[in-house]
Amino acid sequence: MEKIKLTFLGTGSAIPTSRRNHTAMLLSYKDENILFDCGEGTQRQFRHARLNPCKVTKIFITHWHADHVLGIPGLLQTLMLNGYNKTLKIYGPEGTKRMMQLYIGLFAHKGTNFPIEVHEVLSGKQPVIEEKEFKIEAQQMSHDTPTLAYSFIIKEKNRIDKDKLKKLKIENSPLIGELAKGKTVTIAGKKIDGKKLIYREEQRKLTFVLDTRENANAISLAKDSDLLVCESSYSAEETELAKEHAHLTSAQAADIAKKSKSKKLILTHLSQRYETKAQSKQILEEAKKVFKNTELAEDLMSLEI
Ligand SMILES: [Zn+2]
Ligand SMILES: [Zn+2]
Repeated sequence: MEKIKLTFLGTGSAIPTSRRNHTAMLLSYKDENILFDCGEGTQRQFRHARLNPCKVTKIFITHWHADHVLGIPGLLQTLMLNGYNKTLKIYGPEGTKRMMQLYIGLFAHKGTNFPIEVHEVLSGKQPVIEEKEFKIEAQQMSHDTPTLAYSFIIKEKNRIDKDKLKKLKIENSPLIGELAKGKTVTIAGKKIDGKKLIYREEQRKLTFVLDTRENANAISLAKDSDLLVCESSYSAEETELAKEHAHLTSAQAADIAKKSKSKKLILTHLSQRYETKAQSKQILEEAKKVFKNTELAEDLMSLEI
């Protein structure tokens, strides 16, 4: 099974700290390298993580607050200097087209030397993009500017067991396509039942809920996620402050994980006030009381699903 790799390039909040850069996450699956948010300094975080920013295929922006987007001009300039040769696709909430024009104007008066497609995303049931193997869905969040949360979903699918093909010495047969459909075919005089060679690969789902107040859309979007990455700007002691600033506490993030029946929660976007190990541990412990399978993101941490 092809793994989905997720790298946290930045896990801080509005103000960066020595431990935490501004928000950015890179999801890699086969040829796709999808960047979710691009806070200031993200391109340097790529270098620290030993990843090549020129491999980025798509950027999904949750909202246009500076801590999620100030890294875009620098990243695009590097792509220009390094001869980026794909069409970069950028998705974000309403206003993204105008903001991208402004951001590109900051460093490239004649525009970039590679094509950029900008899409303003409508929240709802319709996927934002749907490809053969995966789709991305979005829902409107409740922040103080248009904000989206996203789910990346590998669709469930019948797959052929390559080990079994190898054992039967038919891994190069032109009839594999037929076997993959579950049909019985004859290869070198032997009848082979495709149904015995295929298995069901379950859906895999990763959801990214960044800046938001508590809201029902976060729960419905994250439903049955294998991994929910959720903002956790404040501790439970600061519930009032979190509400005032349109953010979540770690306990509220854990509540979204629990109600959405997600399998695992990773907390990110921590306020600078939780910089010490003891302070960030408090954030984690509060969440674990509500939802046990919780971890705290750290810059440059990566995992596979
Ligand atoms: Zn933020
Ligand atoms: Zn924000």
